[in-house]
Amino acid sequence: MAPRDGFRDRDMDDEDEKPTGSTLGRRRKFSEFECPTCSAHNPFEEFGNEDEVICNWCGLQFKAVIDDEGNLKLKEL
Ligand SMILES: [Zn+2]
Repeated sequence: MAPRDGFRDRDMDDEDEKPTGSTLGRRRKFSEFECPTCSAHNPFEEFGNEDEVICNWCGLQFKAVIDDEGNLKLKEL
């Protein structure tokens, strides 16, 4: 019945660290994108891999493709 050390609490702290984009990979979420066609910067509701986004400036739609390293690419639909 020895009192517990605090080491467990310290382990829990690791979970507070925000994962970086490269850690998340394809599961990374974005809330903005730069239009590949007109280069406009578009704030957007949260989107992830395979989601569709629309440019507010030129009106074109794109499909978000996120690679294993969390890099966003947009494919014109
Ligand atoms: Zn555009």
